[in-house]
Amino acid sequence: MIYLDHNATSVLRPAVREAMHAVEALPLNASSVHAGGRKAKQLLEAARRAFAEHFSVFAHEIIFTASATEANNMLLRALAPSHRLLVAASEHPCIKNTALQLGGVVMAVDEQGRLKLEDLEAKLAALSGTPALVSVMLVNNETGMVQNLAEISRITRAYGAKLHSDAVQAFGKMRIDAGVLGVDFLTFSAHKIGGPVGFGALVMRSDQGIVPLVTGGGQERGYRAGTENIAAIIGAAELLSCMDIDKENAQARRLRTELIALLRAHVPHMPIYAEQAETIGNTLMIGMPGVGSETQLIHCDMHAVAVSAGSACSSGKITPSHVLLAMGVPPEQAQQAIRISLGWNNTQADIEQFARVWSELALRKASAA
Ligand code: PLP
Repeated sequence: MIYLDHNATSVLRPAVREAMHAVEALPLNASSVHAGGRKAKQLLEAARRAFAEHFSVFAHEIIFTASATEANNMLLRALAPSHRLLVAASEHPCIKNTALQLGGVVMAVDEQGRLKLEDLEAKLAALSGTPALVSVMLVNNETGMVQNLAEISRITRAYGAKLHSDAVQAFGKMRIDAGVLGVDFLTFSAHKIGGPVGFGALVMRSDQGIVPLVTGGGQERGYRAGTENIAAIIGAAELLSCMDIDKENAQARRLRTELIALLRAHVPHMPIYAEQAETIGNTLMIGMPGVGSETQLIHCDMHAVAVSAGSACSSGKITPSHVLLAMGVPPEQAQQAIRISLGWNNTQADIEQFARVWSELALRKASAA
């Protein structure tokens, strides 16, 4: 199978699998006082330091969780009682739905998916000093669009609001310095880039108002109870040693550019979403005029090519992407969009095969018209 759905989840990199395999038979509970526990604690803290260095934060600012969904929930649910939640309309459902459930407010994005800064500013001004948490993802999981966090941070700071960024689709695909981005909170996980599922983290550069979502023992400085998943944490930290971010992303961008050229040769009017915005190298969201995304997915699946329509959470029931709708794409056109997301093990041959399979459907459709 040709797998082009890494933004849903990827496959473990060999180095990650080896690192996890090396510890999975050990009794690793970082809270135990015996030698096994001390070993676990040492591995856990080494991983925390590696992530701290990666994001330019302090080690104690990183709280490990079991997923980014959990980390996002932890943050929003902790701050909702004391802060107004302002989230972008294009956020992942684990932010958007959670914020809406908690009485949060949705901010508009433009036709490229960029947060409308004037809407952010108007909504912050209307709060007249009420504490607020603004949550804007760094890279969109459907279109790959990169938000201008530094500018968003400048505005949130001017109004004294806190800023969070869901960096799940940015981690490993671009360099992330929490200070340069100007965020107070950051979340990430590892399974989109060849790390394990079952790992996530909340980076909190300010712990004011943060309370645990999961209570129990005093793990993670009391912020997240439950025995730490040392094998997953080690696997995720191994990514930092085995990835070459610049090289891998230059390669993904090259493949993306070639893929666009191959597809447009057959479908010149193929829409590319967020085409005018800055996008990450691995993600491409396109449409096939007149053909529903479900038909495209089934056709690709029948030819052993895996792609997706929007986010994985909604791939069981294909409804138009909320991201595209927020960008003002008409529902009928949004129903024709699919997402191609490249990963660490994709090759030139993979994109050529996808281009052949997808174009064949487009040509069949054109000749039937
Ligand atoms: N945020 C974004 C932008 C995502 O793409 C995803 C996964 O699709 C998540 C959050 C959820 O991450 P996790 O699977 O680690 O819970």
